[in-house]
Amino acid sequence: MNVRTQVDYCKLNGNDHVELVERVAAHNYHPLPVVVKKAEGVWVEDVDGKKYLDMLAAYSAVNFGHCHKELIDAAKAQLDKVTLTSRAFHNDQLGPLCDELAELCEMEMVLPMNTGAEGVETAIKTARKWGYEKKGVAKDKAKIICCAENFHGRTTTIISFSTDPTCRENFGPFTPGFEVIPYGEIDALKGAIDENTVAFLVEPIQGEAGIIVPPAGYLQQVREICTERNILFIADEIQAGLGRCGATFCCETEPVKPDMYILGKALGGGVVPISAVVSSKNILGVFTPGVHGSTFGGNPLSCAVARKAVEILKRGTYQENAKNMGAYLFEKLRSINTDKIAEIRGRGLWVGVQFKEEAGKARKYCEALMQEGMLCKDTHEQVMRLAPPLCITKDELDWALERMTKVLS
Ligand SMILES: *Cc1c(COP(=O)(O)O)cnc(C)c1O
Repeated sequence: MNVRTQVDYCKLNGNDHVELVERVAAHNYHPLPVVVKKAEGVWVEDVDGKKYLDMLAAYSAVNFGHCHKELIDAAKAQLDKVTLTSRAFHNDQLGPLCDELAELCEMEMVLPMNTGAEGVETAIKTARKWGYEKKGVAKDKAKIICCAENFHGRTTTIISFSTDPTCRENFGPFTPGFEVIPYGEIDALKGAIDENTVAFLVEPIQGEAGIIVPPAGYLQQVREICTERNILFIADEIQAGLGRCGATFCCETEPVKPDMYILGKALGGGVVPISAVVSSKNILGVFTPGVHGSTFGGNPLSCAVARKAVEILKRGTYQENAKNMGAYLFEKLRSINTDKIAEIRGRGLWVGVQFKEEAGKARKYCEALMQEGMLCKDTHEQVMRLAPPLCITKDELDWALERMTKVLS
């Protein structure tokens, strides 16, 4: 037995926390050594009192900024009423959320879950069931097409179609029924579709892969082919959506309308976990009582916060700011005089800075920026991802750009 000495956790400094986590939390992450104790807007403060500008926004879950007053007030108000009923009973927040979210998406029906991965799982189950019951695919033959370098979450089924070996190693056996094709290649999609294909699951911009933007017109061609071949176009907008790309949905910037949106992250305003599949009555109508569910899915606390997030999105101000500040950020980043960067890409306030091989890994730049008071995260070794809260101002971006100029040149 591990004998625990009495610790006053309030007295721990940053290093103590990092050591504690190292000792008692599973090592499934490699975080930067910063221990946040509070945050507001784009700023976070660590346990030692140092302030940082957050240029990651919890992988876009904090699109509206930390501790957004309206979202926190919505949560507090709901906490005093009712937090969980399960779907055994109705609650007075679920219907309004589904109605308001469907309107935001210009779709008809919503199936709420909790995490992004559950949203993706739900989309997969929906597509398969739709395939058997509406399209007439032979029993257990349904195929879903996905893209190389995808990221859709961490469940056993989802990692079954991951192409990242670190996500898969020693987690098999895997779920069959998926075919992986190269991202952004329309002929590969055409070639992969057969009579058993029920859906194409795709990120409109690949986030974890390093903010990979597909060729212009790709998603419109995807739309055409999916309609022509009667397969569902499923857009995983968990990270790309809800303002990040300078519009409510990344697909809108193409513009294109999928058959199904998968939403998560910012849907809960960075306050609560909530995800959702949003689609038509014809598609989500395949569900009947008992075939799918979740104890916490559609709980009144998450729904109340998500309703506020939807209300905020309907005003359009965050989308507008993402578009304008994003354009500014790209312009300024591209003007930094450096020989370390191979490419800068993205959309809205979502930027992937690809480092040249000889410049070394992105992590070391993220660590240096942390020392300078700016937080961001590497992805896929050579890419630094920038995704600040969408409320960021020009002055705050200038502040970050000063640090980046210093570290990158
Ligand atoms: C984060 C993410 C997920 C998974 O969401 P979790 O809430 O972490 O399960 C799925 N798809 C995309 C595109 C994501 O960025």
